Amino acid sequence: MFPEYINQLFYIVGEAVVLLAALVLILSIIVSMLVLYSFKTGNFFAARYMLLGIILLENVITSLFWIFRAEDCIVDDVGVRLRNYINNKKFLKVPYSMRFIFMPQCVRSTECPAKLTPDGIKCVNCGRCGVGEAKKYAEGLGYHFFIVPGSSFNKRIIKKYQPRAIVGVGCHMEIKEGLDLCHSYGIPARGVLLLKAGCVATTLDWEQFHETITEIE
Ligand code: SF4
Repeated sequence: MFPEYINQLFYIVGEAVVLLAALVLILSIIVSMLVLYSFKTGNFFAARYMLLGIILLENVITSLFWIFRAEDCIVDDVGVRLRNYINNKKFLKVPYSMRFIFMPQCVRSTECPAKLTPDGIKCVNCGRCGVGEAKKYAEGLGYHFFIVPGSSFNKRIIKKYQPRAIVGVGCHMEIKEGLDLCHSYGIPARGVLLLKAGCVATTLDWEQFHETITEIE
């Protein structure tokens, strides 16, 4: 038998754990509903708090989506759109010539003839994939366009050239990491999600990409 004060301590700790679990669940339900609302309407309510909620409660929220048979990729999708929305004002103020684009190398054709250089893979616009035309269009606006060969590339290029704004293309994980990296450097960034992720021959909504890079204040 434990002394009475130990029993009371266990009781208080137990109650605190139950209360905390209930609080986490309630907050997760609220954030999940906000995520669904944002996904359906494209509007964001209390954007910064919602993003904080998604970051802190991501595992519980995705479990709730799984339990209620909703697609959990909605959480990632809204997370990226939220970050874009929060960065929007600052991003739009930056002229095209000071913006960079990071395109993942997996979007290229599997028969891509481009060579690797210190500034990434140099597209020669051979016409085998959409990257060549996208690069031509973006550079025509004034953008600096990079095809990313590996994970440490973005950080190296940011340090080397110090862009004022960035558009990054990638899967959910790459976009999340990329936007966090840009945030740590104080660079407003936008993420464009791949339509089909993977290691090779991934696909992108080129129309959405063009709209994303063309916007300016
Ligand atoms: S258009 Fe550019 S990126 Fe695409 S396959 Fe040709 S050289 Fe490679």
